This record gives sequence, C-alpha cells and structure tokens, in this order.
Amino acid sequence: MPIYNFVAGPATLPVPVLNQIQAELTDYQGTGLSILEISHRSPQFTTLLARAKQLLLQLMHLKASEYEVLFLQGGATLQFTMAPLNLATKFHRVAFVNSGHWAERAMAEAKLIPDLVVDEVASAAPHFNHFPLVELTGPAKYDYLHLTTNNTIYGTALNQLPEVDLPLVGDLSSNFLAQDYPFDRFALIYAGAQKNLAPAGLTVVVVKKTLLAQMPTALPAMLSYRKLAAKDSALNTPPVFQIYVAKLVLEWLVKQGGVAAIEAVNRQKAQLIYDAIDQTTFYHNQVRPADRSLTNVPFTTGDSELDQTFITKAQQAGLMNLKGHRLTGGMRASLYNAMPLEGAVALRNFMLQFAKDHEEEK
Ligand SMILES: *Cc1c(COP(=O)(O)O)cnc(C)c1O
Repeated sequence: MPIYNFVAGPATLPVPVLNQIQAELTDYQGTGLSILEISHRSPQFTTLLARAKQLLLQLMHLKASEYEVLFLQGGATLQFTMAPLNLATKFHRVAFVNSGHWAERAMAEAKLIPDLVVDEVASAAPHFNHFPLVELTGPAKYDYLHLTTNNTIYGTALNQLPEVDLPLVGDLSSNFLAQDYPFDRFALIYAGAQKNLAPAGLTVVVVKKTLLAQMPTALPAMLSYRKLAAKDSALNTPPVFQIYVAKLVLEWLVKQGGVAAIEAVNRQKAQLIYDAIDQTTFYHNQVRPADRSLTNVPFTTGDSELDQTFITKAQQAGLMNLKGHRLTGGMRASLYNAMPLEGAVALRNFMLQFAKDHEEEK
C-alpha cells in the first residue's frame, strides 16, 4: 500500500531525493566521507553552496547580479526579527497584512523592536477566511510592506501581489517555489525550508543586493544580512546537510520543469480536493474560493467525532497526518511540491468513499 504524508511540516520530500541521499550517505562524491562529516570550508561544500544558490535564482528567474541568497538558521521565526532590524532603517515604520497566525506572529516580534512602529494595514481577523486586500492611500512612509503569501493554518493564499509603491517583504514559507510569483517584485523573501525544500534547520533568504549595501553595520553578526552575505552564509558553521538536501530538491524541481510547471501540478492536486469538498454537502472549507491555498487545504465534516474517525481511517488507508491544526480542528491536507498527484487522487477517492459510508451519521 502506498503511503502519502499530508503533514504541514516538517513535510514530505521527493522520493528520488530521499533515495539519492541514502545512496551517497556514506560516500559523498567519492570522498569516502559522508556529507554529514565534511567541513563547511571544504571545496565540496563550497561547490555545493554555489550550485544551490545558482539553482534557486534560476528557478525564481532572478539575476545573481541583483539578488543575494542566504542560507540561515533560526527558522522563518527569526526572520520576523531580522527583517525589521535590517530593513526598517529610514522611516522606522513597517506595514503588515494580517492574513493569519504567522502574520500575527511576525507582527508581534516586530513590535518588540524598540522605536519601531508597526501598522496593520489590512486584516482578515478573526475568521481568516479570505486574503485581505491592501489599499494604501497617500504617500506611505513605510520601510516595507510585509506579506505572508500563504496561510498555512487557515488555507488562504495571496494570488496577486498588491500594487503598492513600497518594498515588499514576503514570508513565503508554506508556498515557496510551489506558486509562481513575480519574485522580482520582492525586496526580500524568506522561507523556512521544512515545508517545500529541505529538512528543518534551514531558512532561505533572498534579498536585493542594493538593499544589502544600505543595511546597518552595527548589528550582531548573526542578525546582520550584510555580514552573513559578506561571508557567503558561512559566517559560522552553516547547516551543511540541509543545504545539501535543498540542492537536491532544487535539482529535482528543475527536472519537474520549474516553478510554473510544479504550480500547474499543484493546481491539479488542490482542485481534486476542493472538488471533493464542493461536490458533496459532507465536507466544508470556509475559505473564499478565489483565495484558496494550493498547498494547505483545511476541511471538516462539521462534526468533531466524525472528523476523528476520518483521520483514523485515512491513516489506516495510508493517508497520513491529516489532522488539522489545533487552532482550527478538523482536517488539513498539505499538498506541497513533493506530494505526487497520485497522493491527491488517493485522498480524493478516500474522501468520496468516506462521505458515502458515513452519510447517515450526520
Ligand atoms: C511554518 C511557518 C512559519 C514558521 O517557521 P519556522 O521555520 O518554524 O520558524 C512561519 N511562517 C509560515 C507562513 C509558516 O508556514
């Protein structure tokens, strides 16, 4: 029986990548050493890092002359602090779109920075069943506008970047390289790797080089994009293994045809699940259809006991980790890049059969 893992993160990785890791784990490229034991100053690692950066920029259609790639630690959560520390230097004022839990967390961290004004300029609270529209009038004196492009918990996504005359900072953690944004509209992009790119322990930051030059120098080194960039992400020991896996996943993504191609597959996967929800009265998803996420699909039967039965029986059928987030309850299917179309088909079929079998219990 095939097993499909719908976990929200740390999430599933492409099977060919897992197989390659296994095949070369004890001997990395004929060195007789494992990737787990090579130095971050070795030529093997330097080559690997350069390749990972190049692949990432290629996939995002960004130029190496214009954007810097950083491989950091501390999760997306540390970026909630690093982004304002490094970027909010002119107006000391930043604008946030409150699209859900992670946007709220990002705002809360920014508010802890002394002398920084944090404005919520749009909000979908308290139900977070749509992606809020940003309308800024008059000359906006903000250092940037912060967007969380995909709402991992409530299952909403931003499908069109707002037309504002401000640098955009994006937390793309849960739809990174899964949805094809015009990445060059961003001043800075960050993403925890554990949803779409690598195991936990790596955060990717992509930042405009012109901004790097203007960033403050009086910051602790590990909090300074500028200092981290000057040392090419190896200011201290970087997460070698995670960067290695990220490189393999990026190569895999190139083989899939790139971000636009994988987005098309992601649309098919998501459509299968949304159709199963919409075609029956058995399941519900509260999100406005135009704002539905491609990567995280929350749904419920409306009955918590029945939801629990669904989760248990799905697991017995090899459909793992469909339990919803504790804030929302119900179910959630995460359909990141590494989830094959067959996984979504299997879940769709299971949902339709389950609805038939349990119709009377509602
Ligand atoms: C998971 C997630 C985070 C938290 O990431 P960490 O790497 O665990 O800090 C932040 N933002 C979004 C949108 C997420 O989905």
